[in-house]
Amino acid sequence: MEDCVLHQDEVELLLSDSIKLILIENTVITEGPLDTDCWVWQATKYSGTDYGGLYLFKHRWYVHRLAYMMFVGPIPDGMWVLHKCDVKLCIRPEHLYLGDMRDNIADMYNRPWFHLWMRDLMKKPTKSHKHWRRF
Ligand SMILES: [Zn+2]
Repeated sequence: MEDCVLHQDEVELLLSDSIKLILIENTVITEGPLDTDCWVWQATKYSGTDYGGLYLFKHRWYVHRLAYMMFVGPIPDGMWVLHKCDVKLCIRPEHLYLGDMRDNIADMYNRPWFHLWMRDLMKKPTKSHKHWRRF
C-alpha cells in the first residue's frame, strides 16, 4: 500500500475549504440594508463583543476576519475588517472591506446610529460613562 502524501498546497486548500464550509454552514442568508443579502453568523460570539467568534487551531477568531481571510485574502498588519452593511454578524465577503482605525471612525461617523448615540450621550450625562465603557 502506498502512503498518501499530500502536498503542502493541497493541505492548505483542504484546510481552507473546510473552514469555508464551517463558516457557510453556520450562517443564515438574511435580508440586510444592502442590495445583496447578508450572511448572518448563528453560532457563538466572540466573548464580550457583538461579533461572531470561532475557536480554531487553539485561537479565538473573529469570524468576519476569518471570512475575509478565507474568501478574499490576507489582512495586512494593523488593518481592520469593516462591514459595508453595518451588520456585525455578517460574514459575506462582498460586505467586508479593509480599513484602518481612521476609516473605522469615519465609517462610524457616516452611520445614522452614531449621531443618535452622540445625541443620547449629550442628553444624558449620567449614562454616558456606560456607553464609553463599551468601547
Ligand atoms: Zn452584510
